[in-house]
Amino acid sequence: MRKEWIAARRIVVKIGSSLLVDAINGELHAKWLNTLADDVATLRKEGKDIIVVSSGAIALGRNALKLPKGPLKLEDSQAAAAVGQIDLAHAYEAAFRERGLVAAQVLLTLGDTEQRQRYLNARNTMNTLLKLGAVPVVNENDTVATSEIRYGDNDRLAARVASMMSADCLVLLSDVDGFYTAPPGSRADAHRLDEVREITPEIEAMAGDVGSELSRGGMVTKIEAAKISVSGGTHMVIASGRVLNPLRTLAKTGVATWFLAHADPITARKRWIAGTLEPKGAFTVDAGAAAALASGKSLLPAGVTRVEGKFERGDAVVIRNGEGVEIGRGLTTYGHEEAAAIIGRKSGEIAEILGYFGRAELIHRDDMVLQRKI
Ligand code: GLU
Repeated sequence: MRKEWIAARRIVVKIGSSLLVDAINGELHAKWLNTLADDVATLRKEGKDIIVVSSGAIALGRNALKLPKGPLKLEDSQAAAAVGQIDLAHAYEAAFRERGLVAAQVLLTLGDTEQRQRYLNARNTMNTLLKLGAVPVVNENDTVATSEIRYGDNDRLAARVASMMSADCLVLLSDVDGFYTAPPGSRADAHRLDEVREITPEIEAMAGDVGSELSRGGMVTKIEAAKISVSGGTHMVIASGRVLNPLRTLAKTGVATWFLAHADPITARKRWIAGTLEPKGAFTVDAGAAAALASGKSLLPAGVTRVEGKFERGDAVVIRNGEGVEIGRGLTTYGHEEAAAIIGRKSGEIAEILGYFGRAELIHRDDMVLQRKI
């Protein structure tokens, strides 16, 4: 058993639709769910807090509504979710109750984690549920979430929840038993990685093409989830859910890929910044600024070579190095128009350019999280 697993006090487990719902007849895999509930009950007895993030609402609801096979229109998936979420919640409630556990349904939309006040509210409620001994079962509120305000996939939702709840570990139970250097079977040398200590451009390339529809919901979203998770201080594990008692199996066999979080804890506010799902823009910085950031300095306009996106003061933006690689995130002090006017200039010139005395830095170091190596 890995030390990270033994040490984890709070674990988020993400369960994909295909594990829970039969693709052919749309029925719930009740036996599998029961063995998962057994594992959750065991972990609860060991004193661990467990949060489940479960998909399956749309898959269950489309069957009940006799919707056609294949991709659904947004309004049909929203309707399906309204029907299927009842079955889903009921299934967890029943399986957990049989094992002396109390299930609590939590439905979130993007705004609940992206807006600071709502984020704090959601976190408080979930902390209260855990304190009272319940097991939160989280899903996206698909019925009200239109395309602009959707997480869209439960991998990123789960990572956001894990970092919001300061979880020690996030388990993504998946069709595959880990992260492979290439799609299994596609190349003779494709193999599973046991652990990933840094999410490098090479690792991202292994996940496949971001632009390809096929890779959505696959490894690309899992890597996005891993970035959110590890930068918030939560280890992330991809493990097989295609076995009964998937959590016990993970603990026993260790067959999985671990994305390891940085050892040094970060503040809750920084965790929120690091996990932003929808940054509104990006600053590209020169080598001097990148080095200054790495040594703990704020980002000054002088070191920025490019501004992208439309954002307001206070919005989350990405920081990229000259090669276009993301090196961090932060909350910008200036909107995109002011930022574009002052980049490349000395802080002392800001007042003259903008016509008022603004702050000297584009992103203050207290509002910034860098992707660090372990
Ligand atoms: N929230 C969706 C559902 O419950 C699934 C999204 C996903 O699987 O990533 O059906």
